[in-house]
Amino acid sequence: MPEQVPDDRPDPSAERAHLLAGVAVWSMDLRTGRLRTNAATRALLGWSDARDTSSHDELMQAVHPEDRPAALACLQALLETGTEFDVEHRVVRADGSSGHVRAVGCAEQDEDGRVVAVHGVSTDITELRSAARALELEQERSRGVLGSMTEGYLLMRDSVIVEANSAVCEMTGFSEAELVGSGPPYPYWPAEDAARLGAARDAMVRSGKGVGEFTAVRKDGARRRLAVTARVLATPTGPTLWLVLLRDVTAERERERSLTEQAAADPLTGVHNSRTFRQDLHDAVLVCAGAPLSLALIDVDHFKAVNDRFGHPAGDEVLITVVTRLVAATSGAGTLARVGGEEFALLMPGLTAEQGHRVVQRALVALSATPIGRVGTVTASAGVAELLDGMTDDALYRLADALMYEAKHRGRNQVR
Ligand code: GH3
Ligand code: MG
Ligand code: MG
Repeated sequence: MPEQVPDDRPDPSAERAHLLAGVAVWSMDLRTGRLRTNAATRALLGWSDARDTSSHDELMQAVHPEDRPAALACLQALLETGTEFDVEHRVVRADGSSGHVRAVGCAEQDEDGRVVAVHGVSTDITELRSAARALELEQERSRGVLGSMTEGYLLMRDSVIVEANSAVCEMTGFSEAELVGSGPPYPYWPAEDAARLGAARDAMVRSGKGVGEFTAVRKDGARRRLAVTARVLATPTGPTLWLVLLRDVTAERERERSLTEQAAADPLTGVHNSRTFRQDLHDAVLVCAGAPLSLALIDVDHFKAVNDRFGHPAGDEVLITVVTRLVAATSGAGTLARVGGEEFALLMPGLTAEQGHRVVQRALVALSATPIGRVGTVTASAGVAELLDGMTDDALYRLADALMYEAKHRGRNQVR
């Protein structure tokens, strides 16, 4: 296939091949100002096919007015230096429409080194340019969306982070440069949890998607709870592209935890409330599996008189002190709960009635050993029951309650 424009009429087959391939060949004779074009060049410019020769000026007219100065400068440089050129410019076709062209070529010199002709091949890159522009727009759009997202975004290629948005940098305290290029264990994985997180991640990759939650360690060492949603993006044959979205749920979880704690606790004394105690008792009976389990019910003696003499607020203060003393005296032996106004339950897994009895006896002594301000000495009565074979949690409770009443009847300030 001829590479150059023939001197005479071009070979029709070569012309056709150039036209089919879109190889727009042109030659400009600077001595005569004559321009020769092949059919592909004329098709590119929308010129009539009969115009196989025209003038240099006509070619320049086909260059978009805004790009003409640059094209002329390029030509000027070619005349001075006599080398090759490779330029992109817009063209205005005969019908007024415009397109993008890449022109590559070189100068022809005579024996004296003067540039006498320019030979070029132009390629229509209109579609390429609009595809590139569309891609640029798409990339700008993605950057805009990812940058304004409050959710953290990571793109991983074969487990290596290749993209990270600003939200994920804020969440973890690591810069984009520190995150991009890192693989497991990622910088925000706590060292002690890396093996478990690695296994969880592998399981997600195998299933192609996954949701979960993990504790991340920020660059400054602070711990954050992050919810993760991940999904494989690529085809089975290509690299594994892994899209990971992260949401900081630390505040949410903290709120939930504090609400759960609040719901479980007695607001006055801070120990478990009656509802939580019922659940604790139920669970303890279920899990004790033959091991001893004891329950004490402890009721403050003559508490109505405290309220009557010193007022309800003073009574509240007494209840708080009672709880402080009981917790201190029984800590490690069981869990204390407030199950009534001035009535408490102590659940003692692993302790027999006899052992529980001793624990509660010590607690009652500790309670009454020191007077509580102007209220004076406060005592309590208690009953301790042990879970027997086949006994329900209700039956255990009733038994402890009955023993507590027995202690009351026997003169108070004692354990039965
Ligand atoms: P006993 O020795 O027989 O147990 O006598 P008691 O006076 O302690 O028992 P009683 O059941 O007659 O009275 C309990 C009192 O506890 C009555 C109630 O006003 C008071 N009380 C219940 N809840 C609270 C509370 O949250 N704060 C205060 N200050 N008093 C409470
Ligand atoms: Mg009482
Ligand atoms: Mg009572």
